[in-house]
Amino acid sequence: SRVLLTGGTGFIAAHVLDVLLERGHSVVTTVRSAQKGQTILDNHPKLPNDMLDFVIVEDIAQPGAFDKAVVSKPPFEFVIHTASPFHFNVTDTQKDLLDPAIIGTTGILKSIKQHAPSVKRVVITSSFASIINPSKGNNPGYEYSEKDWNPITAEEAVENPLAGYRASKTFAEQASWDFVEKEKPNFTIATMCPPMVLGPIVHYLQSLDSLNTSNQRIAAIMTGKAKEEIPATGTFIWTDVRDLALAHVKAAELPEAASKRFFVTAGYFSNEEIADIVRDNYPELKDKVPAKGTKGGGYPEEGIYKYDNSKVKEVLGIQFRSLKESIVDTVKSLQAVGG
Ligand code: NDP
Repeated sequence: SRVLLTGGTGFIAAHVLDVLLERGHSVVTTVRSAQKGQTILDNHPKLPNDMLDFVIVEDIAQPGAFDKAVVSKPPFEFVIHTASPFHFNVTDTQKDLLDPAIIGTTGILKSIKQHAPSVKRVVITSSFASIINPSKGNNPGYEYSEKDWNPITAEEAVENPLAGYRASKTFAEQASWDFVEKEKPNFTIATMCPPMVLGPIVHYLQSLDSLNTSNQRIAAIMTGKAKEEIPATGTFIWTDVRDLALAHVKAAELPEAASKRFFVTAGYFSNEEIADIVRDNYPELKDKVPAKGTKGGGYPEEGIYKYDNSKVKEVLGIQFRSLKESIVDTVKSLQAVGG
């Protein structure tokens, strides 16, 4: 099938792109500049001509940003919308986080409805941020699943950048379900709600300085920044980027994924465990990795919420990679860019 993938320069999207191509789909990806698009093309040199192309969408927060991008020959069957800001480097929560997330999501759905009647399924990258109830803390004993919604309010959204990010994901996902209910488009949606996403970077897109947010903890552990104290883990559940990419593609391909949320979680992790894995598998990094027993980065004594990932396994057939495999591969990929 022909697929539109937004934000092809992103950590997660780069893997979604490769899974799509491996499974025989032809892909057009949106990027913010021709240079970024060309880099993606240059790094896929062996493809037949019509398998991969890019289209420029400079700012997803602009109304009508996707009007042209959703039109293609042959027409699109699936859209995978991953583009959304994920960083805490914000001066204006509305402009930097909320607008691109919310207007970006409702905007692409409007453009598809108006200009791309061939689209059957839209997969949207949401987040555990839209599931968790942050006011409950580690919520020992409680089991999170697709039934849960983050109750965050517009007032709380502007309190700090973390709240702003979580609100951006919650409001954007809510807006997508509202859109489908009110507008009754020809397509169905599926939303992906991963917690912390770890895993190898695609070498041509990132450097250690511009590393995506969720992998920064691994870079800190391998480059000596966590030597004295391991940073707090924060979110104690994770998933590997390659498993998440496959989940996105299956959520587009499978009819039974229609109208479902997916809590794409592999299991528990802590930053202390990441340090243990790096230390055990990369003896050459032993002077930089925090020594066994360094303070910080462990699980909370009170315990931690449970998670139900059964829907992802049953409907999408995902088998999750282990934390060890993920971290070993991530470190290798970071070493390739100078880490
Ligand atoms: P990245 O920062 O690597 O990717 C973000 C992508 O969005 C980039 O392609 C970026 O383009 C694009 N983008 C951001 N703002 C705009 C804008 N205003 N206009 C156009 N494009 C924009 O992050 P991830 O790959 O980690 O995140 C991808 C998605 O996954 C996001 O929706 C995020 O919320 C979600 N997610 C990520 C998790 C994680 O742990 N990584 C966990 C849960 C959800 P450019 O590169 O040009 O800036």
